[in-house]
Amino acid sequence: MEEYIIELSHLTKRFMEKEALCEIDLKIKPKEFVTLLGPSGCGKTTTLRIIGGFEEPTAGDVIFEGKKINDLPPYQRQINTVFQKYALFPHLNVFENIAFGLRLKKLGQGEIEEKVSRMLKLVNLEGFGKRKVQSLSGGQQQRVAIARALVNEPKVLLLDEPLGALDLKLRKEMQLELKNMQQRVGITFIYVTHDQEEALTMSDRVVVMSEGEIQQIGTPEDIYNEPVNRFVADFIGEGNILDGVMAEDFKVKIEDRTFTCMDKGFASNEIVEVLVRPEDIQIVEAQKGMLKGVVESVVFKGVHYEILVRDESEMSWMIHTIHMVKVGQTIGMDIVPDAIHIMKKVG
Ligand code: ATP
Repeated sequence: MEEYIIELSHLTKRFMEKEALCEIDLKIKPKEFVTLLGPSGCGKTTTLRIIGGFEEPTAGDVIFEGKKINDLPPYQRQINTVFQKYALFPHLNVFENIAFGLRLKKLGQGEIEEKVSRMLKLVNLEGFGKRKVQSLSGGQQQRVAIARALVNEPKVLLLDEPLGALDLKLRKEMQLELKNMQQRVGITFIYVTHDQEEALTMSDRVVVMSEGEIQQIGTPEDIYNEPVNRFVADFIGEGNILDGVMAEDFKVKIEDRTFTCMDKGFASNEIVEVLVRPEDIQIVEAQKGMLKGVVESVVFKGVHYEILVRDESEMSWMIHTIHMVKVGQTIGMDIVPDAIHIMKKVG
């Protein structure tokens, strides 16, 4: 078996003057759940449409199980797509919506019934076969759309913001269900979203994109804890991103203070950016902290308070804490070396 099911090699797409994708390289393993994540217009959908065969690349290759498939039409690819607007057939019931592709392939009734029943079970819609699709909730309709795509037994399923139309609670439920489903069927999922939390929740690997280029590919933990640059750090979560200068090994200078860090591989005197996540700053007694500052605002966020603190160098720090502090209070702050992440400065 090939090591990779999908390989994108130097994939470039131009629409007139606009370069939507620039030399994308990506290798996806069988059974992986890979998410393309980035802001609107970064090229996620274009990448997906090229993999599906709905759009031709201007340059570069799409490789499926080791073979170039640039010229293969969508219906000849072992790849199916689920769009946000999933366009179920309103005049058909749930069973017939799922069976549609199988009927086109002229499968026998027995086989169709067996495959559709298996799908209904997989997407938790047993007993819904005879229901009209309009009588289903948004989440249930989305499950029918997924069943309709999976029943054809594709090797790869492409999903373009499939949960975008659902409310937050349902979306969170469906995220876990989809991930579960993907693990059970063992099909490669390539998923598009601009929602970083969704990407972190579901993916084996996340591909962070910006302006037609890949910024970073990594596990959710990698991209959250070890972002390669300011764009990724900023897009993936909240953080204090500060300018710094590398001093000797394991030391970084921010303003006039030196912090110990764990990152290696930076030159002495190199100008860098430093990320400290708000949950990684500990509040301590004012006299005992590495830093001292005055609380400027406190916002209750449910699981924690989000506070802004101005330190003695006039630098502002965002902190997530479960401790109640008051505006105007002077506090101490500690940051462990592990929590100080150094990034290359770009531009
Ligand atoms: P969104 O999250 O808003 O869907 P996206 O990351 O999926 O955004 P794409 O839809 O891939 O981004 O678009 C990438 C860029 O290419 C955008 O600037 C878009 O305007 C442009 N683009 C996409 N399709 C076309 C087209 N058919 N003709 C011209 N420009 C296009």
